[in-house]
Amino acid sequence: MRVLVVEDDDGVAGAVVEALGTHGHRVERVARAADVWPHLRDADLVLLDLGLPDADGMDVLRRLRRIAATPVLVLTARDAERDVVRGLRLGADDYLVKPVRLRELLARVDAVVRRTRPAEGPTGDVVEIEDLQVHLAARRATVGGADVALTAKEFDILAALARRPGAAVSRQQLLDEVWGDAYLAVSRSLDVHLASLRSKLGRPGLVSTIRGFGYRLGR
Ligand code: CA
Repeated sequence: MRVLVVEDDDGVAGAVVEALGTHGHRVERVARAADVWPHLRDADLVLLDLGLPDADGMDVLRRLRRIAATPVLVLTARDAERDVVRGLRLGADDYLVKPVRLRELLARVDAVVRRTRPAEGPTGDVVEIEDLQVHLAARRATVGGADVALTAKEFDILAALARRPGAAVSRQQLLDEVWGDAYLAVSRSLDVHLASLRSKLGRPGLVSTIRGFGYRLGR
């Protein structure tokens, strides 16, 4: 995969570029927002630092979303949760908190690869996260090989998360996909179904909450 790294810090950029390169990605690095645009067309994924010397990363993200569907992973300073939520709303696919843990970075990049190039063939509709298996077509979920008895809504929520393993999914998206509409009235219903789904899966931390935004299945 061709990754465009937008990062002004040479130390961070160097480590990230090396890690991605070692894992077979072709990496282009730029240090300024202005240099994003000539390289954007050749990128399958953009890794975007929000603190750039010549522009606010949020503005870069907003402009990028107007002209391209390229997946974007946002890099943000720790504790800038409000920025994260804003970034996701502006169309970032996921985010990473600095200091970047390289294993986590690679896992998130792989998750984007899986989403943008969905698996084909007989196993294409089974999503595996740790010991959870979600059989999308058969509408069946197992944990540690044992069937989990889910209601239709619980399964729909799980499936919506499982179609984007490791990625942040907004409440809005879940409401749209599971209920077909995002009425405030069903918003509470999402919480109830989600709590029940979590308890039935019996794997704390498997579905994590992104405060003020939504949820993520797996890391
Ligand atoms: Ca920076």
